[in-house]
Amino acid sequence: MSLYWNHRVKRLAPYIPGEQIRDQRVIKLNTNENPYPPSPKVIEAIQKALGDDLRLYPDPACTELRTVIAQRYGVMPEQVFAGNGSDEVLAFAFAAFFESPVKNRQTLPILFPDITYSFYPVYTRLWDIPFTPVPLAADFSLVIEDYKQAAGGVVIPNPNAPTGQAIPCSDLRSLLAFHEKNRETAAVVLVDEAYTAFGRDLEVTPLVHEYSNLLTVHTLSKAASLAGLRVGFAIGNQELIEGLGRVRDSFNSYTVDRLAQAGARAAILDASYYEAVNRKVIATRNRVSAALKALGYEVIPSQANFIFIRSLQKNGMQLYTFLREQDILVRHFNQLRIADFLRVSIGTDEQMDRVLAACETFSNGT
Ligand code: PMP
Repeated sequence: MSLYWNHRVKRLAPYIPGEQIRDQRVIKLNTNENPYPPSPKVIEAIQKALGDDLRLYPDPACTELRTVIAQRYGVMPEQVFAGNGSDEVLAFAFAAFFESPVKNRQTLPILFPDITYSFYPVYTRLWDIPFTPVPLAADFSLVIEDYKQAAGGVVIPNPNAPTGQAIPCSDLRSLLAFHEKNRETAAVVLVDEAYTAFGRDLEVTPLVHEYSNLLTVHTLSKAASLAGLRVGFAIGNQELIEGLGRVRDSFNSYTVDRLAQAGARAAILDASYYEAVNRKVIATRNRVSAALKALGYEVIPSQANFIFIRSLQKNGMQLYTFLREQDILVRHFNQLRIADFLRVSIGTDEQMDRVLAACETFSNGT
C-alpha cells in the first residue's frame, strides 16, 4: 500500500495475467492463444498500413473495421463497437450497464458464475458494482434457471472459462426473455463469446435483432490468432453501443490503433482461413480429450480451445509442477472447487502429443 494511492486504487484486486514466457523450449499452453499463425492477409494488411500515416491518429470510430464486422454478423455498423481487446470492451460494458450503489436506492447485484473468467470480479471492484456469484452445478454445468432472478445484469461466457463447458442458445434465449425490456426484471445480459468459434452452434449474436438487452462480446485473440494485436468488439442494440462509446470517449477515444484496425479488418474478411485453422484446433481438442480420458484423467467436456483436466491420483499443483518440469506451461487456479484442475490450451498436434506423453508418465508414477 502506498501513501499516494487513493482509496479507489487501494481497494482494487487486479487480475493476474498468465505468464508470457520467452523461453522457446517451453510449450506455452497457459493463455489460450491459437497455436497457428494469423492469416497471411492480416500480415499483408498491417504491412500496408505501416507507413507515414502513423503520424495521424486512427479513426476513433473504427468505421471500416466495424463495417466488415457488421456484414459478417448481419447487423448495422451502429450495432458494433470495437476496442483494445475484449478485456477493454468488457471493462467499458461493466462501466456502462451495471450500477454502483446510489444513496437511498436499492442496487441489485449483477450475476455471473462462481467459476468463470477471473477478470469479471476485478471489473466489479474497479467500478464498485455489487455482484453475486452463482454456483455452477457439481459437474460445472451452468444452470440457467439460477440466473432468472431480479439482477443488476448478467454476464455469461459461452463456452465458460476455464471449464470449457457450453450451454445451448435456447437457454440464453430464455434468459434474455426473462430480463427483457419492460419487465420488472429488465437487465443487460452480456454473453462473452471469446471461445464460441470453437463450439458447435453457440453463436447468439443474431438474437440482437430480437432482444435489446443482449450484448455479445468477441475477441480476435483466440479464434483469429491475434492476441498480440489487441482487438475485441461488441454487438448489440444501438443504444448499448452508444453507451459503450460514451464510456470510451470519457477515457481514451483512440483505443484501437491504425495497424490493429487494418489487421483486424483483414482477419474478419478471411473467415475461410480461420475456419480451417479452428477445425484443426477442434479436432486436436477432441483427440486429446479422448486420449486423456483413456489415461484415467477427468476431462470436462470442452467446446473451447482449451481443456480443463484433473488427475484422479494427485493434486493439481503436483501435476502442474510435473508438466512445468517437462517444459510444458499450463494454467492452475488456486481457487476453491478447481484447485485440482488444470486448464490446458490446445496447441498443435505435435505439442499435444508431448502433453499426452507427459501425462502418461505422470499417471504411471515414474
Ligand atoms: N473473455 C474471456 C472469457 C477470456 O478468457 C479472455 C482471455 N483472457 C478474454 C475475454 C479477453 O480476451 P482479449 O482481451 O485478449 O480480447
